[in-house]
Amino acid sequence: MERCEFIEQCGFYQRFATKNSAAWRGLFDSYCCGRLVRYCERYRLYRSETVSFSDDMMPNGRNVPSAFKLLL
Ligand code: SF4
Repeated sequence: MERCEFIEQCGFYQRFATKNSAAWRGLFDSYCCGRLVRYCERYRLYRSETVSFSDDMMPNGRNVPSAFKLLL
């Protein structure tokens, strides 16, 4: 299992990692602890040492939809 090297500093992961619904777990299992890590837009920004971007930005580069935030 891969694990993103930025997981400790990633604001998105740190903010939402306690989410437990299938949609959220699927996201974390695919990107943060899975094979899609290199396709994560946040990962690319961390690698390019871009430091200023929202914790709400998802791996696909878009902000978390409000309905998605309501999921546990
Ligand atoms: S959201 Fe992206 S940068 Fe953050 S921990 Fe997951 S894979 Fe890494």
